Order: sequence, then C-alpha cells, then structure tokens
Amino acid sequence: MVGKRLIGVGMGCWAFAILGLIAGCRAQATPLTACPGHPDAIGTSRTLVVDPRAHPRIGSMQYPETLPLHDHEVVLTFDDGPLPRNSDKILKILADQCVKANFFLVGRQSRAYPAGVSKLVALGHTIGTHTQNHPLNFEKLPLDKVKQEVDDGIASASAALPDPTLVAPFFRVPGLLRSKTVEDWLASKGIQIWSADFDADDWRHISPEQVYERAMKRIEARGKGILLLHDIQARTVVALPMILHELKVRGYHIVHVVPATPQRPATPTDPMEWRSHPPSAMLPVAERPKLPVFAFGEAKGLVTPPSPDLNAPEGKTQWPQVATLPLRSAAVTLPVPAKDLFETPEQARHALQTVAPEAKVRPAASAVRRLSATAVRRRRRRHLVLRAKHTAVRGERH
Ligand SMILES: [Zn+2]
Repeated sequence: MVGKRLIGVGMGCWAFAILGLIAGCRAQATPLTACPGHPDAIGTSRTLVVDPRAHPRIGSMQYPETLPLHDHEVVLTFDDGPLPRNSDKILKILADQCVKANFFLVGRQSRAYPAGVSKLVALGHTIGTHTQNHPLNFEKLPLDKVKQEVDDGIASASAALPDPTLVAPFFRVPGLLRSKTVEDWLASKGIQIWSADFDADDWRHISPEQVYERAMKRIEARGKGILLLHDIQARTVVALPMILHELKVRGYHIVHVVPATPQRPATPTDPMEWRSHPPSAMLPVAERPKLPVFAFGEAKGLVTPPSPDLNAPEGKTQWPQVATLPLRSAAVTLPVPAKDLFETPEQARHALQTVAPEAKVRPAASAVRRLSATAVRRRRRRHLVLRAKHTAVRGERH
C-alpha cells in the first residue's frame, strides 16, 4: 500500500519537476500517513522526539533556539484549554484531518473539565502545561509562587489521567511573560519552555478570516515553525479548517512533537538545526545590518496574551490588555511646536489694537479710493456705449 503510494508520488514529482513546480511536488509527497475517510486531509507527516534537558528553551519569538524543523514543516500548538464548547470542536477538526498537535493546558480548566484532558490523550495529542491559574504577572512572581503555579498545573492535568507520565515536560509561560528566575528553575527541573515562532492573534478581537490570513502570512514569511493558537477561542474553530486546507495546498507538513523517554530516544538532529535564526544572524555584531531604535524600545517587545476571562461570554474580551507608553517618553519624543502655531483670533485682535490708529485706517481708506476709481471708469464706459447706440439708431432713421 505504502509502496504503491510512493510510486505514485515519484511519478507525480517527475511531472512537477519537468514543469519546475517544486512546491507542487512537495505537496504531492505529503500524505504518507493515511487518514481513512478523509482523502483531502493534511495528516501528520512525522513525529519529532525532543530532549527537554538538551534544549530547555525554544521558540524564535523569544529564544535563540527553536524546533529543528525542515522547510515547510509546522507544529500546531493550542493554549488555555480545555474549554469544551470550543476545544471539542478543535479536536474534531484535528481528528478529521488526522493531525496531531501539542496542547498547553491551564490547571483550573483541567480540574473543571477532566474529560477534556483524557480526550487529548485518547486522540494521541501531546499534553503540556500552562500554570494553574494563568497569572497575568508571571514574570514578577516570586519563585515560590512560580513553583506553586507550575506544580499545581501539572498536578491538575495529571489528575485527569491514569498515568501522570502522560503529561509531557513541556511548559508555556502565560502571556509569554518570561523571567530568568522562571527559566532557570524550569531548566533545573528538566521542563522545556515553549515559546513560539509565530502566532495568529486569535486572542484579539479580529475575524476568523483575519486569524487565517495572519497565520498564513507569518508561516509563509518564515517558511516553517511553531504556530501558537488558542483552542478556547470560537474564531480559532472557524479559522483552523481554512489554515489546514491552505497549508496542504501550499505544500506544508504537520509535525507532532513528543518528549524523549528511556524507551523513546530523541530524534537525531544537528545543533545547527536548532538555531532560531539564519546564519546571517550569527554574524559578528559589526557586520549585521543596523536596526532602527524606537522611542519605545525599552518597553516589552511583545504584545502577548494575558489571562483569559474564561467566564466571559463568547465574543467578549479574552485578551484585553494593551501596553501604554509612559507620558515621559512621549514628551521627549515630540517636537516643540512653533511659537505662532497656536495663535488665536483673540491674540490677533490684541495685536491689531496695539498698533497706531493711522496704521489701521490707512489701508481701508486706500481701498475705498481704489474702489471708487473703478466704479467711475465703469460708469463712463457704459455711458459711451449707450451714446454710440443712440447715434446708430438715429442714423438708421435717416
Ligand atoms: Zn495562555
């Protein structure tokens, strides 16, 4: 069966190669994993086994390392669930597409909906965690609070499962609000921090079409990577089928990531494959292109999703917080306006009142004189025309 498929793929590739359509060839070679009943499914092309201790922090949005993906490979990640009304729909879409994904669960959600956790395992997805309460100020929490949030989140997910080892040592920081304290402690525990390579703004108040467009634009710009989505969002439920369809059309592959265990060794990789940035980014500082320095450069570089209001009705705010610039920065940045820019009519009137009386009258008097002279010339011209007509009429009578 597989052999037949590979032969078919090979012939297809030859045809595409003749036409020079390499991306099309890649698309033809994708469905190595069968998806019964869904011939158009994108499927899952491979499973990547990673060792969290060897690579404790990944995701080019924040770290120098990311997953060692090949060109046109994407890992789907979903945060903040389970929330049955939307998470279940996401699971159905993934099942119909035979896609395996990586989930980062909020502990209190796992406690509230344990069936949602066990479904993930039954469907073959990977479970990571995302704290117990999704605190908004995770980067400012003291270490004891960080430990409590992380440990409770893991315990809540484990409580819904028959085997606690089914929870992977994968962790996503709430709102990506990292701190060195958090990073060092998680690394010491062998827990891998997952940032992302791109998100799709599905926590913002935008349409599903915009989520789809932003996802595709950012994936295409980088060519591969970890996509951050939220399975609690209704707009993501609508956008996901479009994203998966378009990924397949454009020749992308879905990769599922699992942690290494004694029985399951890590996928062999080259250290260079883990680098977040292309070789040009590794040049000495003096040889790199200059980046503009903005006035708000000291502000947090990322607008990241803070805690969701899980009790809010659908369509209401989930990630409402937007950073504001301190006024002090604005005062430094703005130019000083010219002195006369805000001159008011009152000021102009006052200026007129202070000049000499004759200076105010003289222009008006000369204007009247000019007007009078014009009127006299017009009147004289009209008189001459009338006299000429009168003369002409008299001549005709004679
Ligand atoms: Zn989150």
